[in-house]
Amino acid sequence: MNPTLKRRDFFKKTAQAGMACCALMTTSKLGAFNNLFLEGEELDPKLLNYCGYKCPEDCTFLNASLENDVEMKKEVFKSWEINERFGIEFEADKIFCFGCKTKDKPEGVVLNNCTVRSCVIEKELECCIECDELVTCEKELWDRFPKFKEKVIEMQLTFLEAKK
Ligand code: SF4
Ligand code: SF4
Repeated sequence: MNPTLKRRDFFKKTAQAGMACCALMTTSKLGAFNNLFLEGEELDPKLLNYCGYKCPEDCTFLNASLENDVEMKKEVFKSWEINERFGIEFEADKIFCFGCKTKDKPEGVVLNNCTVRSCVIEKELECCIECDELVTCEKELWDRFPKFKEKVIEMQLTFLEAKK
């Protein structure tokens, strides 16, 4: 692990690799969470997605949705294994994502299936880093990405420390 890699570099790196939210919800092949480094960063739960992730600006799924680009959507559908994970067939008007926290757009199938997202909303929090059950939380997302969970717990510690 490169200890000098900062979080924005991590997000840039995942975006460059074509991995973005909600690839978190689909693929199990993300390994870059090992590189997350948080030291010295101010954490604002409002600026993070509900799980603690932050969508890269050049997310393929977001761009495909904004441009309603059917071919790009097909690529995302395949590479993010949406059929395998959610058992749905490709229909261009049903495959979209406008971001985990975007309030004025419809929620696509990926957001609708995220148990972490629905839990945070139900608890009326902004992000799991505010939740006192994070360490013991057994939501599927954390099982699939234990390294990511470790990083989110680190984020929580940083967040709580800054509040003291
Ligand atoms: S909370 Fe769920 S939908 Fe939102 S970024 Fe995290 S994994 Fe994706
Ligand atoms: S219980 Fe807490 S940590 Fe787990 S998903 Fe819900 S808000 Fe996040």
